[in-house]
Amino acid sequence: MAIRKIRTIGDEILEHQTKPVKILTPRIAILIGDMLDTMYQAQGVGLAAPQVGVLKQIVVIDVTQEGNTPIVLINPEILELSGEQTGQEACLSVPNKVGNVTRANYVKVKAYDQHMKERIIEGEDLLARAIQHEVDHLSGVLYVSKVEGELMDAQEAEERA
Ligand code: ZN
Repeated sequence: MAIRKIRTIGDEILEHQTKPVKILTPRIAILIGDMLDTMYQAQGVGLAAPQVGVLKQIVVIDVTQEGNTPIVLINPEILELSGEQTGQEACLSVPNKVGNVTRANYVKVKAYDQHMKERIIEGEDLLARAIQHEVDHLSGVLYVSKVEGELMDAQEAEERA
């Protein structure tokens, strides 16, 4: 497995629509492993394939950042959203920035896992936020387009809190 280069805002690949994964090829399996390595190394809680330059519908998430229970979502489809939460969000593709985004507080998503087994995953709070953020990446949407108020410098925001 390997660390891949994370594309950052301004790179137009981040604004493209992605394609569904049809079959789990060895190449896709390697990509998923690399995405997990890249996410953990960058201390992120989620990463979508376009962020490493691949226009496929794959996201990895681990809100614990511990490496024990990563969630892999292939071809995710959001089935249900409810409630509301407003909180600070950040993105590995928008380095050193944070901004407030309102999202649903609960999400139910259908996706294939890393073995192409269909699964239903439900999340609340941070997990719900991460799923919505990562699924947005698959249609070329960055959280900065949803920020309420200004995008803030991460360090300043931390000092002010
Ligand atoms: Zn992101």
